[in-house]
Amino acid sequence: MESKPYLKKPYWDGKIIDIHCHFFPHPLFKAIWNYFEKFDWNIVYKGTPEQLSNELEKLGVKCHSLLNYAHKPGIAKDMNQWTEEFAKKNQSTLPFFTIHPEDQDNKLMAREFLEKGFTGLKLQPLVQNFHVADERVTPVYEEIIKHGAWTLLHTGTAPYSNGLVGVQYFRKLMKRFPDLKVIVAHMGGYEFHEFFELLEKYPNMRLDTTMIFTDTDVFDTSFPKEMIDLVEKYSDKVLFGSDFPNIPYEYEESINGLLRLQFEQKVYEKIFYKNAERDFNID
Ligand SMILES: [Zn+2]
Repeated sequence: MESKPYLKKPYWDGKIIDIHCHFFPHPLFKAIWNYFEKFDWNIVYKGTPEQLSNELEKLGVKCHSLLNYAHKPGIAKDMNQWTEEFAKKNQSTLPFFTIHPEDQDNKLMAREFLEKGFTGLKLQPLVQNFHVADERVTPVYEEIIKHGAWTLLHTGTAPYSNGLVGVQYFRKLMKRFPDLKVIVAHMGGYEFHEFFELLEKYPNMRLDTTMIFTDTDVFDTSFPKEMIDLVEKYSDKVLFGSDFPNIPYEYEESINGLLRLQFEQKVYEKIFYKNAERDFNID
């Protein structure tokens, strides 16, 4: 370790941009945590959204995304308004809006929040019960492309599949929108090979590191050893993410899991903040 001083905290402290953080209005947060804990997924960080945002700052994070998802029709707009208010008060936030495909006014709503400067859209098919190539989302993707905004998709089969995740849906989507600026959560796990291959084909595609490489018994976070070199090769396209606060371990483990890979300093600079500064115009 002594020969690689950049593996120690001061080198990234206060610079980290975490592209995968969840913030919900407090009552919803509590319901989500109760659900996780039924599966022994014990959340380390709990508090009001404001307290959690401050906690991230203490942990060395300069900027973080705000992701949430409407689990049923009729609530997306309220959630997006809540996100807007939160982001106004907390300048270190990159707000993402949510939609539910059964709602009627999604295109208009997307436009409204994109015009207000939202970073993009988050979709979570495991909870929202549709896949990312669902035709009902097409007008929303069109709006996102028009605004040069981003989409963050949980479309991999980790930590489990409900039949609505998997690379097949993502391929279908990208055939339709090859220029889409898209972040695939969890490095595309568990179909790592397939998603890494697609990086060659789609220049605006990114992978976030969320939960992968961490040491936990709660679910399988292991990454194929033979692919570690590819993380370095494609390090321009990898963004740091954590899933904070819904993680069953200390936040530092999200960072340490990556540091254990012993990359060169420039690789970590890119993953922890430089790529995100470039992609989301942060100075
Ligand atoms: Zn997440």
